[in-house]
Amino acid sequence: MITKIKVQAIDSRHFIDGKYIEIDKNKSFENINPATEEVQAIVAEGGKVEVDAAVKAARKALNGPWKNVTLEERSKMLRKIGDLILERQEELARLEALDTGKPFSLANSVDIPRAAYNFHFFADYITSVGTDAYQQNSEALHYTLRRPVGVVGLIKPWNLPLLLLTWKLAPCIGMGNTAVVKPAEWTPMTATVLMEIIKEAGVPDGVVNLVHGFGPGSAGGAISEHPDVDAISFIGEPSTGSAIMKAGADSLKKLSYELGGKNPNIIFADADIDEVVATTVKSSFINQGEVCLCGSRIYVERSAYDEFLEKFTAKAKELKVGQPFDADTNVGALVSKEHYDRVNSYIDIAREEGGEFVIGGKRPEGIDKGYFLEPTIITGLKNDSRCIREEIFGPVVTVVPFDTEEEVIEQANDTHYGLSASIWTTNLKRGHRVAHQIEAGIIWVNTWFLRDLRTPFGGMKHSGVGRTGGMHSIDFYSELSNITIKL
Ligand code: NAD
Repeated sequence: MITKIKVQAIDSRHFIDGKYIEIDKNKSFENINPATEEVQAIVAEGGKVEVDAAVKAARKALNGPWKNVTLEERSKMLRKIGDLILERQEELARLEALDTGKPFSLANSVDIPRAAYNFHFFADYITSVGTDAYQQNSEALHYTLRRPVGVVGLIKPWNLPLLLLTWKLAPCIGMGNTAVVKPAEWTPMTATVLMEIIKEAGVPDGVVNLVHGFGPGSAGGAISEHPDVDAISFIGEPSTGSAIMKAGADSLKKLSYELGGKNPNIIFADADIDEVVATTVKSSFINQGEVCLCGSRIYVERSAYDEFLEKFTAKAKELKVGQPFDADTNVGALVSKEHYDRVNSYIDIAREEGGEFVIGGKRPEGIDKGYFLEPTIITGLKNDSRCIREEIFGPVVTVVPFDTEEEVIEQANDTHYGLSASIWTTNLKRGHRVAHQIEAGIIWVNTWFLRDLRTPFGGMKHSGVGRTGGMHSIDFYSELSNITIKL
């Protein structure tokens, strides 16, 4: 029962030019709580008109008051936003759990603190950024001027709503750009509160605008097509990325994409299996498996296969699937009916493909409502199985044995995705050797999800375009002009 913490969903309004806009009931949709399947609030639906107003406000701010705000002042504002997020941490974590169905404990310990840290990190980082200068003999001096790109559209997914929005918004406004934000339709609440925080932190009106809605034919489509949006930072599915690229082609928008993953978790027999199991339970089922970095394809060297599977299954069985606000819940509800049906369709596919369900594949007993699914471990599938090739984005993993290093490298790379990978081995040379051959943007050896925000983050192949993190974020959110002075 959701009784332990007072919960109250909020209606999600657009925020344009420093003001929330009252919701027109005829242009709104329902916000459904995924743990109860009940309507918990309403969300304004924006389209061309609202996006156009937001873009105009962003352009006006870019050419107006924001232009004269110094780097040091912007840094202070970022720091203040981070502080205010922490002041409202529990409230934001509560809203995130209500919207996504994830455990409140996870939102409160990971999502919201990291959202604050995104602002704190870039508050410091932007003040240390320099530019190149080259002296060309005694003939000329070249130096680089860094300027904002302009109005940036930020289109975001539902799995880590505030964490991922702030990961992009902090460097975006830190580098002097203005923004039009569109959160995912299923998780609009924390972005709505963030606008109030941004205003309180002293960010001028129009610098950050928020328009809610769906994708094509709605707010997302309108941002992608808008001729006066200079760049788009998108996180979501590869097919959506492709649609946004097409829609924005006429205005040649600068693009940054973080897309899906189907990440291999490669376990060699010489690894410390207990340590591997402890991390693999997290990399498989944290946030209901709805993390782009989850290691959903597990490959285990044959001599360690039985030991791993037995220990992994035992640990996964200990996970409690339950209500987001119960303190002992490890796995909450999936985000929506649509997504729940999609994940369940892969359970059906695995059955058709001859997969063996070691555990899971069904709704937990005693929970009759909400989009809950037991942690699911499937074995016996071939590498060309759809469950191994396609991103399921739920608490579902496959486990496959391998015999040689060459074989597992080939299997790991046999996918359109290339976001992340984990390699477990105590053989240092092998760790490096395998890492160098895996086609992924982020590769962990003997760990998972260990992040330093200065490092490049992003995917190869269909998992992304470009990198963010540290200087990579700074470069995306800036335009460079080379200035040559003849000496
Ligand atoms: P999605 O692509 O369905 O939607 C993402 C956003 O795009 C939403 O705001 C949606 O409304 C909008 N959108 C949808 N169609 C659009 C269109 N045609 N034009 C403009 N906007 C459109 O993705 P999702 O289901 O919200 O998120 C899950 C996906 O995101 C998974 O593939 C996951 O791996 C990926 N993801 C990647 C990362 C990463 O860092 N690489 C992080 C988190 C999630």
